[in-house]
Amino acid sequence: MNIILLGPPGAGKGTQAKRLEQERGMVQLSTGDMLRAAVKAGTPTGIQAKAVMDAGELVSDAIVSGIIGERLDMEDTLKGAIFDGYPRTAAQAESLDTLLSERGRQLDFVIELEVNEDALVERVEGRFTCANCGEGYHDKFKLPKVEGTCDVCGHHEFKRRPDDNAETVRTRMAEYRAKTAPILPFYEAKGLVRKVDGMADIAEVGAQIDAILDGKA
Ligand code: ADP
Ligand code: ADP
Ligand code: ZN
Repeated sequence: MNIILLGPPGAGKGTQAKRLEQERGMVQLSTGDMLRAAVKAGTPTGIQAKAVMDAGELVSDAIVSGIIGERLDMEDTLKGAIFDGYPRTAAQAESLDTLLSERGRQLDFVIELEVNEDALVERVEGRFTCANCGEGYHDKFKLPKVEGTCDVCGHHEFKRRPDDNAETVRTRMAEYRAKTAPILPFYEAKGLVRKVDGMADIAEVGAQIDAILDGKA
């Protein structure tokens, strides 16, 4: 099964993608994570992308579709891909169709996380992740069970993203409205879109997604 998780910054895409990896053995394909890895490694792509990401704007379609194509050539993605943060533009949606059909694969669902924009700044500003395994947390909504210790791997260091500040989040939300939300009709026409209440708590959102994947919704 291959799915897209679609929603603005802070909607809960990464949180749900990581859970689906843990519970279903699917594979999270986060272009944001891939780009941050490229920035950290100082690759030419990373050097090009850094300023754009810091500003909350979109990296070029060619770059992100290129890295998704390379990732889809790795065999683990045959276990089922969760596209998280990709596609973000009409051109990327077209590219994804091509990348999948070239490999004899197809999309099963586009799951839209419906959220109230007013809640997103608080979600993004309170976000932090384990520096070792990448598990996501929140200052208010999802603290580690033991303070200062990652639930998943036991690590004690955490990190925050430089672009998770109120100002950049506003730009990212505007980019979502202008360029990403308009791709929904493309998938609606294919009958792939399923809506989930992204304002529910994390477990409830997970239950709604599971019902869709299990054909019960
Ligand atoms: P995205 O990948 O869509 O940008 P994340 O999954 O990183 O979003 O979630 C943003 C922040 O909000 C994280 O700190 C996460 O722990 C928290 N979060 C995710 N889903 C919910 C939810 N349903 N209710 C409250 N907080 C949530
Ligand atoms: P979010 O938590 O906002 O969903 P991501 O981690 O998905 O954030 O993305 C962080 C940044 O990386 C974006 O603001 C953008 O600059 C860049 N980026 C990630 N995915 C894409 C994409 N598919 N197309 C263009 N830029 C992207
Ligand atoms: Zn961890």
